[in-house]
Amino acid sequence: TFARMAGLIREAMEGPSQAPAILARRKRRCDYLVVGAGFAGSVLAERLASQQGASVTVVDKRPHVGGNAYDRADAAGILIHQYGPHIFHTNSDEIFGYLSRFTAWRPYEHRVLAQVRGQLVPIPINRDTLNRLFGLNLASEADAAAYLAGRAEPVADIRTSEDVVVSAVGRELYELFFRGYTRKQWGIDPSGLDKSVTARIPTRTNTDDRYFGDKYQAMPRDGYTAMFEKMLDQPGIELLLGTSHSEVADEIEAGHIIYTGPIDEYFGFRFGQLPYRSLRFEHRTLEVPTFQPTAVVNYPDPSVPYTRITEYKHLTGQAHPHTSITYEYPQDEGDPYYPIPRAENQALFKRYEALADATPGVTFVGRLATYRYYNMDQVVGQALAAHRRLAARTPASEMW
Ligand code: FAD
Ligand code: UDP
Repeated sequence: TFARMAGLIREAMEGPSQAPAILARRKRRCDYLVVGAGFAGSVLAERLASQQGASVTVVDKRPHVGGNAYDRADAAGILIHQYGPHIFHTNSDEIFGYLSRFTAWRPYEHRVLAQVRGQLVPIPINRDTLNRLFGLNLASEADAAAYLAGRAEPVADIRTSEDVVVSAVGRELYELFFRGYTRKQWGIDPSGLDKSVTARIPTRTNTDDRYFGDKYQAMPRDGYTAMFEKMLDQPGIELLLGTSHSEVADEIEAGHIIYTGPIDEYFGFRFGQLPYRSLRFEHRTLEVPTFQPTAVVNYPDPSVPYTRITEYKHLTGQAHPHTSITYEYPQDEGDPYYPIPRAENQALFKRYEALADATPGVTFVGRLATYRYYNMDQVVGQALAAHRRLAARTPASEMW
């Protein structure tokens, strides 16, 4: 006891640095604790450190940065996307300009084919899709529009993902391209999904076969992971990988928390679990130079268990004698990848959101924390907006 007393007295006089055991129990301080090193967390960490001069600790339970956009060289040395194909596209000058600070780009326009009735045809459905599938000779946009108008079934109130497609192209094309794919992807019939899901896919009367129409379409030249590493390489940012929030919650005293994981998990699932759809990825390397004509081929046929196959060399332009591909098998269990857009889920999210709004000191950002089916650029935009609000509110120096 005397030795312990002496130690405590010495600590009181000389400061805690003399007492490692006690020091270890002291909380570490930072201005911001960011949970998640995906787009949402990495953009906020970079902005707060570089613009506010804040001290930022970033934790991610995975052993890598980038969240679901993480890419890596596989055993053959081919750059693959560990969590499925990620193609960057945006109409925003601000978002493209912001990311361009951390990467150069490889121009890339995404094209997707769908295997339907034994043929590979363009999806989104365009004039060539119709001509090839039905042996037609529609020569103009007006021809294709008239043909589709003859098939479309009017829907008075377009609410569901079935309504969107059936009202545009009719039931046969809906069944060939959308019903099977959607049932596999979401485990739900399109009639039970919000219209916003299939409304992501346009219908075209011209022969444009690009998947996206955005102003900027490109891949980070050296990959996503390299871009994230550059983003997070700032004075003031400390990165703890393989570390979950719960492991550090008691050890780190943060002025403010940025949380980018699932919102229901943050609140201990107190209103029940929010449904997220997961995927199993099967990565393969084949000893052939190419496997399929485009980066992605979709398989809407319900008898095929996967939804799509991705071949990465089309995305990256990498020269290699072999090729790597990924099959996607949708499933319920596993990492949460997709919030599922439907009314009852949104209602449950709103209850968690009300809780989040009443929780001072924590900002919820990103696809999982705001339960929104967002693309990468939308998450970057959301994170930049959150940064503007945080910067206006509290200068980091006033937080203590
Ligand atoms: P995430 O990338 O999910 O990052 C969240 C991070 O938080 C994760 O790394 C996770 O490990 C970590 N985390 C969660 N909870 C905790 C915790 N408690 N403690 C510590 N860490 C935690 N978008 C496009 O624009 N184009 C595409 O082509 C495209 N393709 C996609 C394909 C697939 C298969 C998927 C699933 C998504 C795709 N997206 C695409 C969407 C894109 O992945 C997301 O918009 C973006 O990655 C979301 O970033 P985020 O930071 O919100 O979330
Ligand atoms: N979809 C479909 N068939 C296709 C392509 C898309 O039914 O060939 C539907 C499906 O419900 C899918 C949604 O449209 O989930 C959105 O497709 P997108 O390619 O944008 O999905 P993501 O890349 O986000 O998985």
